[in-house]
Amino acid sequence: MTTDSTDPRPHDARAAFDAFKARGLKLNMQRGQPSDADFDLSNGLITALGEQDYQMDGLDLRNYPGGVAGLPSARALVADYLDLKADNVIVWNNSSLELQGLILTFALLHGLPGHAAWAGQKPKMIVTVPGYDRHFLLLETLGFELVTVPMQGDGPDIDAVERLAAGDSRVKGIVFVPTYSNPTGESISPAKAARLAGLQAAAPDFTIFADDAYRAHHLHESGDEPVNFVVLCRDAGYPNRAFVYGSTSKITFASAGLGFMGSSEENIQWVSRYLNAQSIGPNKLEQARHVRFLSEYPGGLTGLMQAHARLIAPKFEAVDEVLSRELGSAGEYATWTHPRGGYFISLDTAEPVAHRVVELAEQAGVLLTPAGATYPAGQDTGRNIRLSPTRPTAQEVRLAMEVVAACVRLATEEYRQSRSGQDA
Ligand code: PMP
Repeated sequence: MTTDSTDPRPHDARAAFDAFKARGLKLNMQRGQPSDADFDLSNGLITALGEQDYQMDGLDLRNYPGGVAGLPSARALVADYLDLKADNVIVWNNSSLELQGLILTFALLHGLPGHAAWAGQKPKMIVTVPGYDRHFLLLETLGFELVTVPMQGDGPDIDAVERLAAGDSRVKGIVFVPTYSNPTGESISPAKAARLAGLQAAAPDFTIFADDAYRAHHLHESGDEPVNFVVLCRDAGYPNRAFVYGSTSKITFASAGLGFMGSSEENIQWVSRYLNAQSIGPNKLEQARHVRFLSEYPGGLTGLMQAHARLIAPKFEAVDEVLSRELGSAGEYATWTHPRGGYFISLDTAEPVAHRVVELAEQAGVLLTPAGATYPAGQDTGRNIRLSPTRPTAQEVRLAMEVVAACVRLATEEYRQSRSGQDA
């Protein structure tokens, strides 16, 4: 990389940035939220049940009875979604993250089936980086020590996971996103999934917490094949090793749908026992609404996901197109992922300027996820930025990415100039 002071680029980058700044833009690419157009696809959910529709599966949806595992029809729907049997799933309330927190708390307080409580063992949890900030927050809040492994194009760095798990019985498991990961958008390969399912861990209760939030969120007709960790672990001789999570937050309405999980029958019974101690049961009316709405949607859940893809795919294409045009594809300024699904694109700057890029973008009216959010505290590389193109329109995404590209160029030029000044 040359930092020749006669290079016209520093000026270009500054001029481009100043021109965007002068436009007083207001664009938000901060969080992975569906757009209003995505939500509109599911407005039928609001009226999917009429006044007389308060019975399903022989249960009165208005009353307590039904148990903690969920309405049978909702369990059947989710079992189909997770490729499991209905006995292997629990359909809970509006958030899969809550379910993840509950199960980690049960493991801390009571121990997984046949094992001691984790709370007294100073437990460590493997997380992938770049990763999902809310996983870090949840685990840190519950007192886990986080151990990071790099997220690669085909899933977690499995050599590192095997080494960590084999060498330390305090390493109790791994939390990660197997399909269209947050933020890289890439999926675990079958080979890595098989190694994870069968790995030899020092902890007999080493557990895979697969947050499969995007398992059906393909952008194109041929998507990545989601992994069935429950079956894979059972076949590898570790029947209780996997918990898989998902929700309808990015299928119907965010935080206003169904959070659910899948695991072995023994684990389901174990979870149910503790859920039953704190709740008489989940919201069956919401579950019935989803069953009714999704069964009546043309093409069912798959049809709905295809409709989302038609809205979202052009936004991902816009990101790639603008970044390639403005930053080139040789990695001089940055590299980024090319997901085939999910909600995010992960951008790595060539120089450690991610914080400066986010700061500049904000000055130019484009809000990005704070740099460093994709790493646990203190482990930030200063290079990673999570791009969330789903919420704005494709046109806004295009403009926001032009701004981001200008900021990447300016921050890179600034950095290189300051370095060349130091070297001189
Ligand atoms: N897991 C992942 C990987 C996510 O990206 C998100 C949403 N950003 C969630 C969980 C949140 O899921 P829920 O709304 O079901 O709590």
